[in-house]
Amino acid sequence: MKIFDRLERRRNWSEDERLILDQVQRLADEVIAPAAEHYDHTKEFPHANVAAINDLGLNGLFVPEAYGGFPGSFRLYLAVVSILAEACASTGIIYATNFHAMKPLIDFGTEEQKQRLLPRLAEGALAALAITETSAGSDATGMKTRFTPDGDDIIVDGGKIFITNGDQADLILLFGKWSEIEDARKAISVLVFEKGAPGFEVIRLEDKMGHRASSTAAIAFDGCRVPRANLIGAPGDGLAILLASLNKSRPSIAAHALGIARAAFKDMVRYMNDRRQSGRRVIDFQGNQFLVADLATELAMAENWLDYVGAVIDDGEGDFGLEASMAKMRASDLAMRMTTEAVQMHGGYGYCRDYRVERLMRDAKITQIWEGTNQVHRQLIGKSFAAK
Ligand SMILES: Cc1cc2nc3c(=O)[nH]c(=O)nc-3n(C[C@H](O)[C@H](O)[C@H](O)COP(=O)(O)OP(=O)(O)OC[C@H]3O[C@@H](n4cnc5c(N)ncnc54)[C@H](O)[C@@H]3O)c2cc1C
Repeated sequence: MKIFDRLERRRNWSEDERLILDQVQRLADEVIAPAAEHYDHTKEFPHANVAAINDLGLNGLFVPEAYGGFPGSFRLYLAVVSILAEACASTGIIYATNFHAMKPLIDFGTEEQKQRLLPRLAEGALAALAITETSAGSDATGMKTRFTPDGDDIIVDGGKIFITNGDQADLILLFGKWSEIEDARKAISVLVFEKGAPGFEVIRLEDKMGHRASSTAAIAFDGCRVPRANLIGAPGDGLAILLASLNKSRPSIAAHALGIARAAFKDMVRYMNDRRQSGRRVIDFQGNQFLVADLATELAMAENWLDYVGAVIDDGEGDFGLEASMAKMRASDLAMRMTTEAVQMHGGYGYCRDYRVERLMRDAKITQIWEGTNQVHRQLIGKSFAAK
């Protein structure tokens, strides 16, 4: 894997960043990866992994110092997500969801909100991002959850589906429509919902193909009172906040998908070098070498593109939505292709649970669906080239 070693070296991490990455890699190798099969099999929420991640203070990586964090670069955050996802995709997405949910609070919250809520996150609170509803999937503007102002409170009524960490979260970034605004797009607003408010209920947990240890919940809000102080921005600011936030969570989803792809690539190459048929190693058949060549090249390109997108964001350049879409789409398509081919190269053994590639293939599929399906990303990217 000389090519990938050099790619990693060329990232030029500082000494402090290298130290963090080494710690995360150790955690991934010694704690998270060995337990991944158990959690996949039992569907238990991996509390021990979350505790270990918090022992390293990894939520602090994206929380500003003034609120208890030790912020690193966005590139560093992406590398951490990728390492965790390579070890266990469920654990990777549980961690990344904290970022996806709370980055809007960091970017758009008031000083008071940040002082009140962010130290909890830095100390290890779990967060969830609640957008999707039965009537609002790819088109989030179809949401029906209602925010009705009532003095110093907002009354929340409605329901969300498919919410990662939804049953576990201490803080939920919740999108809904402001009752006093008629226009479907302009009504979208966003608030931080804190665990414990009466009227909140977990309706069901999904029984999924992959990411089985990450909980995916349908949740309901029945007359829940939330302090108006928890509204992010003004009523009607939700859609702009949503779009800005997705632009940062999509590279994070790409990093997660690349973690899965990398795991599959390593397992595939190792197996192809070990397994012999017709007196040769599976990797010695030329057709299979072509496959490895294509996949290695794709992986190197996708890793490099993501690092580039991270650097663009770190440099404070705005308007990186298309680059983020490209990273998400390419990385998740690669994760699916890589895991499918890794199963293929394992032959019948790849179809059985004894080999990790079986789980990786199941874990990969959702990366093409969440945070905007790849059809939606293709549409966004393609449309951007159409002359106005
Ligand atoms: C395990 C899991 C975890 C999730 N976590 C979260 C979470 O934490 N928070 C959250 O809010 N949501 C979450 N989701 C929801 C996820 O983001 C949605 O499932 C996704 O956005 C797609 O919406 P949908 O399922 O309603 O599909 P639909 O929007 O109904 O799409 C159905 C099909 O139509 C296609 N389609 C739709 N619109 C277009 C278009 N404009 N152009 C071309 N094709 C189109 C889609 O690509 C897809 O193939 C999660 C889902 C799952 C399964």
